[in-house]
Order: sequence, then structure tokens, then C-alpha cells
Amino acid sequence: MSAFSRGAVDALLARYDRSGPRYTSYPTAPEWEDGFGDDDFSSFLGRSGDEPLSAYVHVPFCQKLCAFCACTRTIPKDRSVIAPYLATLERELELVASRLPAQRPCAQLALGGGSPNYLDAASLGRLVDAVDERFPPTADAERSAELDPRRTDRDQLEALAERGFERVSFGVQDLDPRVQAAIHRSQSPAKTAAIIAEARALGFESVNVDLIYGLPEQTPTSFDRTLDQILEIRPDRIALYGYAHVTWISSTQRSFNRRNLPSPEDRLLLYFRALERFTEAGYRHLGLDHFALPEDGLALAADDGTLHRNFMGYTVARSRDLIAFGPSGISEVAGCYAQSEREVGTWQAAIEAGRLATFRGWRLSLDDERRKWLIQSLMCSGSISPEGFRDEFGIELGELLPGFEGTLNGFQADGLLAGSLEDGFRTTDTGRLFLRSMAMSFDAYLAPATDQARYSRVV
Ligand code: SF4
Repeated sequence: MSAFSRGAVDALLARYDRSGPRYTSYPTAPEWEDGFGDDDFSSFLGRSGDEPLSAYVHVPFCQKLCAFCACTRTIPKDRSVIAPYLATLERELELVASRLPAQRPCAQLALGGGSPNYLDAASLGRLVDAVDERFPPTADAERSAELDPRRTDRDQLEALAERGFERVSFGVQDLDPRVQAAIHRSQSPAKTAAIIAEARALGFESVNVDLIYGLPEQTPTSFDRTLDQILEIRPDRIALYGYAHVTWISSTQRSFNRRNLPSPEDRLLLYFRALERFTEAGYRHLGLDHFALPEDGLALAADDGTLHRNFMGYTVARSRDLIAFGPSGISEVAGCYAQSEREVGTWQAAIEAGRLATFRGWRLSLDDERRKWLIQSLMCSGSISPEGFRDEFGIELGELLPGFEGTLNGFQADGLLAGSLEDGFRTTDTGRLFLRSMAMSFDAYLAPATDQARYSRVV
């Protein structure tokens, strides 16, 4: 049982269990402009610099649907989709490269999905080689891939290792058979451990495992067994996400019997239990939902203030610009956000017609940049530094947010935040769970009347 009492948990839930954004961007995607298209994004690409960039490639395919999943993914009838997908991706790489003022090296490449391992080893190699041809990797480039442990083989790992990938992230979610049956994702602990061992033997230096709390049929006892099995594997990083019940995005979640979902109180206890177990096992808690061994690059980045968060999750800050390729990809370039069409066919049609598939985006104002800075600071270091804000923007925090001290006092009174205006504010261990709630108080766009329908619960 966690050190956190049930009474304290109930009181916090009563005040903070609302719906709210995850803040992988600010402003968040629902605020962006629908008319923002190819011309708009191209003009931002054209005025970006020549420094190394980060690239993300979205591979939207999966073999079978997991019922909890709200990612942008599709389940093709067969693998005949791969060749046209790769051909369009190569065309997209060319189009983007032609709109940049200079050839830009790539300091960070991430493959995500869907399941990048839907591509066989040769196709994965072709994809990475195509990126490298247009955006040559820097000598110290960081390269990572999200893989499904049930369907990854040694050839695929080798293809990535040969091309300098040293980080890999496996989606595990939960190892309990009842939970797996409920979410339609069956996965043996032995196979999970074996593929992670294989990755390590091939020289991958950082292995991440994704877990989810709040899934149907999950109980504190069942989750404890999953935590035992994961801690035995001892991944370098663990991402612990709260299950997001967003049936308006993921229709498969409607198959869940709400009675089998943990109550808000039990969700919080599951989270606290994991927090306790990971901390006891020597992991550092980073940002909102990540844990890393002290020698892992993510923990080192937290120490030297270079921990960063974007659409790919927590990363070591390597570059200002992130360009995304593939359907649904979200780029952040030279002061704008731009998102590509989500449907594979619509994305393909735009690219094949010689246009970028951008369907919405946002130009960041100075006010946006200031609030984004505050939210990033909260999400990455769990702190708010009035002095750092002044150094960055040349104005006092109170000029941007009159009355912000009163807002912060509420979080302090609830034991979620500690500090002062002079020394800065820092979230407590419990406060980390409510980072989204704190970030919401800096959001100029969030209308209380409309926030409930668009987002998942913050806890
Ligand atoms: S959880 Fe992963 S493997 Fe399952 S449907 Fe979603 S993207 Fe595909």
C-alpha cells in the first residue's frame, strides 16, 4: 500500500480531477487554425536556419488493433501498403528538403507509429536510408524507434543497429492476462524480456518500456505483479502513462465496460504505487510521467537542464526545429506548428500532387512563446522560475500573468508546489501528478466551458 492516504487522495481528486490537455504543445492542437496549409508551412520552412534539426517519421500501420489505443494508426489488409507508403515518404522528404534554405543535418531521428516494426528489416533500412540521404546524420545523432515487442524480430533490430540506432522503446502497457484480454493485446512476459535482451545484446544502450495505469481489469495487486516483472527486466527508462478514456477519438474504447475501469481513486493509488516502486528501485522521476536510471541520458539531461518535451515525448534537447514526416506528423519549425493529414490516402494524394499535406497549424505569438516557456519549464523540470522568466523575456512574470501568485498559493496550500517568488517554485512529488492542472492555469485559450469535451482526465 502506498504511503499516500486514501483521504488525501480523495481530497486532491475532488479539487483537480478535471479534463485537460497533455501540453505536448502550447497552444494545444485543437486551437490551431484549419486553413493553415502547404503555402503557410513552406514559408516557415523557407525562413528556418541551417542548424541540425530533429526528424520524426510516423509509420501508421499495425497488425492488430489494441482496444485502448487512441494513436493515429490503421490496420491494413496486407503488406502491399508498404511500398506505396515508402515511395510517398521519399517524395515528402524531397519536397521538404526543397523548401528549406539549406541542407540541414539531422541530430535526432525518431521512428514512431503505429508500429514501425510493421515494416520488415529491408523496408526499415530503406526508410532510414532515405531520411539520411536528404538529412545526413550528425556524428553524435540520437536515433530511436518505438517497437511492438510482440512483433519485432532480430533482423529488424539489426537493421536499426547497423544504422546507428541506440535507443529503443517497447510498448508493454500491462503484463496481466486479464488486463491483456480486456484490451485485446496479448503479450507474454517471457517474449517481452527476450526481445529486450536481444536489443541489449545488439548494443542498444537505452531501452524504454511504456506502461499504462488505469486500464480495464487493472487492480493494485495485478499491477504490482506487472511492476515486479518490469523491474526484473530493469529497463533504462520507463514511461508511465495514465489510460486516456477518449471515446470520441477511439471508438474501440466504447467496448470497455466502465465498471471494469479503475475508479479515479484507484487510478491514483495505482500511480502512487508505481511511483513508490520505481523510486525504491533507484529510478529518477522525470517530468510528468517518465522514470530513468540515474546514468541514462534522460536523467543526465534533467540534471543539466536540457530535458525537453515535444510531440515525441521527453527527449534530450538537440535542436530548435522538429520536422515530422508521414501521415498525422506534427512539425514545429521557426515559430509555427504544422500537422499533416491523418488519413494515409489523403496524405498520399497531397504529396503525389506535389504539395505538403499540411491541414492545420499555428503561428506562435510572443504571448504564446512566453506561456509555452512556462509550461515547458513545469513539464520538464517541475519548476517555475520568475528570475529565469525575466532573463528570457525581459519582463516580470506578474506582467504576463497578473495575480499568478494567488493561483500558485492554491497549489501550495494543497502541498503540490513549494517555494517563493524570490527563490522560484518547485512541484512536490505529489504535485507532479497534477502538472497538467498547473499548466492549465497558464493557458490563455482554455475555456472552462469547453475543456471537458476535448481532453482526457488530468489524473
Ligand atoms: S497500441 Fe501500438 S500496436 Fe496497439 S494499435 Fe496502438 S499503435 Fe498499434
